[in-house]
Amino acid sequence: SQRVQHLIQLAETSPSTKSAVPSTAFTEADLKEALSNKNVICFFQPQVQLSNRRVIGFEALARIRHPQKGLITPNLFIDLAEELDLIDQVTTQVVQYALSHFNTWYTEQDLTLSLNFSASTMASDNFPDWLSRMAKTYHIEPERIICELTETVLSNNPHELIRNLLRLRLMKFKLSIDDFGTGYASLEQLHEIPFNEVKIDMCFVRDFLNNTRSRTVVTNCLQLCSEMNIKTVSEGIEDQATFTALAKQGCDYGQGYYISKPLYASDVKTFLNEYAATSEIN
Ligand code: C2E
Ligand code: MG
Ligand code: MG
Ligand code: MG
Repeated sequence: SQRVQHLIQLAETSPSTKSAVPSTAFTEADLKEALSNKNVICFFQPQVQLSNRRVIGFEALARIRHPQKGLITPNLFIDLAEELDLIDQVTTQVVQYALSHFNTWYTEQDLTLSLNFSASTMASDNFPDWLSRMAKTYHIEPERIICELTETVLSNNPHELIRNLLRLRLMKFKLSIDDFGTGYASLEQLHEIPFNEVKIDMCFVRDFLNNTRSRTVVTNCLQLCSEMNIKTVSEGIEDQATFTALAKQGCDYGQGYYISKPLYASDVKTFLNEYAATSEIN
């Protein structure tokens, strides 16, 4: 099948299988070449409602297709792009790619699309208007788009960023705090900015079952969010026991390898059909 072909392709081109080219050798020249050849794309990782396993949306995760080095993950190029002032170009390609694909399948179900943004992008003056134009171009209602930003960037409390977050909310986009628990976002900030969603970092999710401290962080977060009417997502769910325990604790949504790895755009429709079929049996 197409899926298997993709997996083989992925394994063959994965940097880790090419010993001659260490994955760290992704350079400035590689990044510039990828941008000019439109090789900055994204994968889509499904998110499900924990109570009933229904697919509720996808997170777009940036990737670069390199002709020799294979598929490059964001930890190798996001920081580089920020340092070189190329992050907005990366964001533009990821968002165009994500919206153009999302546009072809979201109407079948009531799905959302989560996008990751760097703080510098989100704080730039024209960002809300730009995103609004992009959504219009691809005929996607802003309420379907969830803007993720990592918790750590909030600790500096930059005025431009806060202003843009408020503007985005006025435009009906949704806001999500990514990697929650790893930074120092305070409860006051959660009040100040109307976040719709909190994503609990996978380091807490991973040892939710075995580590009392992690469990305390997660249950406190779930309780706080439910009181504040903020949706919760657990990221990095890798097994059924964790899935079930988080569902029981009242976490709304989840994503992780147990549900699905990030998918090629071309595999999303198959996933939607197959997953719907299996979750009805369970
Ligand atoms: P993130 O937004 O917290 O994304 C979750 C990461 O965890 C993704 O890695 C995903 O592939 C991985 N993951 C998901 N489920 C599991 C699991 O069950 N187990 C394990 N071990 N890992 C899992 P990825 O795709 O490498 O992305 C890394 C980070 O790069 C993202 O973290 C996000 O902060 C950043 N990023 C991704 N795309 C973009 C983008 O378009 N723009 C910006 N600025 N940053 C991006
Ligand atoms: Mg994210
Ligand atoms: Mg995260
Ligand atoms: Mg993360």
